[in-house]
Amino acid sequence: MALLAIHNARLVTETWERPGGIVVGDDGRIEALVDADVRPDAETVVDARGRLLFPGFIDAHVHMRDPGYPHKETFATGTLAAACGGVTTVMCMPNADPPADSARGIEAMRAAGEGRSLVDFTIQAGVTQDNIADIPALWNAGVSSFEALLSDAPASMLLDSDGLIRAAEAVAACGGVIGVYTGDRALVEAALDRLAGRTDFAAFAEARAPLGEAMGLARLIEAARATRARIVARQVSTARGFATIEAARRGDPSLSIAVEVTPHHFRLDTGAVDRHGPFALMVPPLRAPHDRQASRKALASNAADFVGSDHAPHAMEEKSRSTPWEVPGGTPGLDTIVPATVDLAASGEIPWTRVAAVLSSVPARLFGIGHRKGRLAVGTDGDLVLIDPELTKTVDAGSIRSRAGRSPFEGMTLTGWPVLTVLRGRVIAQDGRYAGGEPSGRWLPRGEVDWS
Ligand SMILES: [Zn+2]
Repeated sequence: MALLAIHNARLVTETWERPGGIVVGDDGRIEALVDADVRPDAETVVDARGRLLFPGFIDAHVHMRDPGYPHKETFATGTLAAACGGVTTVMCMPNADPPADSARGIEAMRAAGEGRSLVDFTIQAGVTQDNIADIPALWNAGVSSFEALLSDAPASMLLDSDGLIRAAEAVAACGGVIGVYTGDRALVEAALDRLAGRTDFAAFAEARAPLGEAMGLARLIEAARATRARIVARQVSTARGFATIEAARRGDPSLSIAVEVTPHHFRLDTGAVDRHGPFALMVPPLRAPHDRQASRKALASNAADFVGSDHAPHAMEEKSRSTPWEVPGGTPGLDTIVPATVDLAASGEIPWTRVAAVLSSVPARLFGIGHRKGRLAVGTDGDLVLIDPELTKTVDAGSIRSRAGRSPFEGMTLTGWPVLTVLRGRVIAQDGRYAGGEPSGRWLPRGEVDWS
């Protein structure tokens, strides 16, 4: 018998929406899409009561902190936030301990997640000056992409311009994808020296001014032009940054640059630092209101390709320190990425199909997991999220299941929340609560990357 049948839903994909239902077979894969008047039988039958059924949401930017930093987050705590928040696949960033920048580090992260993760996960391999030669072997290990930083990290984790070009060449040669956080290291370091005497939290953003993002993106664009590598510009956050990328794409339509935006940059601005102090510090920092508007416009207009949360939890003690220079940058994002994005569709700012694109099908294709995820199609994984488009809730401390415990989204009222999260045909969360049972998330090796 089929595992799960959801009927009386409004199915939403990146290209269409219509009334209907979904049947997931006992292999956990979608067995059939059915018409609105069909009531299929299954072990679990759900009447969606006309609510919106999406392909499972994917967060392509998650610092799970596991292995190595259990006081910040683990697969168990981070994926609880994911499951309850409507995310069925997390793509994990490499900066764990050991970092996922070697065969050993990738195996350690995989071992940390298997048997503990409540949702499926991929691993993104770190690239530094020291492991560029290992890129082909790491790619063959099944990682979904590579990740690099040009700024705002210890020197051992950064790429310089030469490293960026060599890494992009190696990634292009194996047909891979590299995500890059840009910024400008020299500008940040000079600003940190200049601002060292400041104790107000606004100084954190001043040290990472929009100019640095624009200069970093210019380097990224030239690297994509020179190597033809497929590059994801992570966390673009400024009006200047979006304009820089749009101009480059217009001048060279075959340039392979994809753009990520985060919910905190399109929903929050420097005003949140006044309200939440150190809990609103992240890298890149929250920007001015006109930058938030630019981010929002990029999301609505295809200038941005997908939404990633940059889930970057820290312990309460770490985030409660008293000066901007002692507080680590980062905020939990898995709890709120879905409602913070869905709310824009509930208010009519973006179409529902755009939600399916930016939170599911586009990241699935860009990062090589579109054969299993990101679609409502027979044979793909039965990962589904039911959204109640009329449910309005205010984010509060109880909404944050990440071990971080606090988020600058607290106090924000959002409409459109996940009420059912399904992983490969099994209900893992309902009405914002974990459904119980053993963790069933699996590591997901990459398939074909599709940037067409
Ligand atoms: Zn990040």
